[in-house]
Amino acid sequence: MNPAYPEIDWNICQACDPCQARLVCKTRAIVQPDPGEPPYIDFSRCTRCALCVITCPCQAITTQNGHHPA
Ligand code: SF4
Ligand code: SF4
Repeated sequence: MNPAYPEIDWNICQACDPCQARLVCKTRAIVQPDPGEPPYIDFSRCTRCALCVITCPCQAITTQNGHHPA
C-alpha cells in the first residue's frame, strides 16, 4: 500500500466532466460536487490504492506530497 494519501493539485486539474479518477475510485472517495469543478478527496474513504493516480489523464493526482496517515 502507498505510504501517503493522494493529493489533487488544483493548479493542474482540468476539472473534467466527469472526473475520470472519480469514476475508477472503488470507495467513492473522490468527490466532485459539480462536474466541471475540481474534485477533492474524502480521506476517510480513501484506501490509498492509487488507482486515481494512474488514471487521471493530467497527472493532477500524486502521492508525493500527499497526506500521510496519522
Ligand atoms: S481526471 Fe484528473 S484532471 Fe480530470 S477532474 Fe479528475 S483529477 Fe482533475
Ligand atoms: S487512492 Fe484509491 S481509494 Fe483513494 S481516492 Fe484514489 S482511487 Fe480512491
